[in-house]
Amino acid sequence: MTQGSANKAPELRRRKAALEAKLKELIGGSVKREDLEIEHWAEALDQLKSNLDRELTIERLDQQTRLIRDIQLALTAIEEGAYGTCARCEEPIPPRRLDAVPWALLCVRCQSEVEAAKDDAEPLFRDAA
Ligand SMILES: [Zn+2]
Repeated sequence: MTQGSANKAPELRRRKAALEAKLKELIGGSVKREDLEIEHWAEALDQLKSNLDRELTIERLDQQTRLIRDIQLALTAIEEGAYGTCARCEEPIPPRRLDAVPWALLCVRCQSEVEAAKDDAEPLFRDAA
């Protein structure tokens, strides 16, 4: 009888429920496709604002896509029993970090190293225009 792992089950179920709720919220409230269409404003200023809105929408959609992917990966990790372990250095991710970011796949150190390295990462959203 492994008491330790038995005690982790309710916590994992709680994390899983939180992740699934977040995923549902994200997919349900996705940015509408129509928001991406270019509007032809007469006023140059409005045009500028429209372009800016569009860029922000794309950026938001991009972040959302990443987040959805991370949540799906976290759910897979729960299934595989790998949840809560850094995918890069394989150290345990502190529960405090998982409370703040339940879909965290990396520890804080690896996360900041990865982010520092991916300054020129390719955009996910290429075919918007
Ligand atoms: Zn790590």
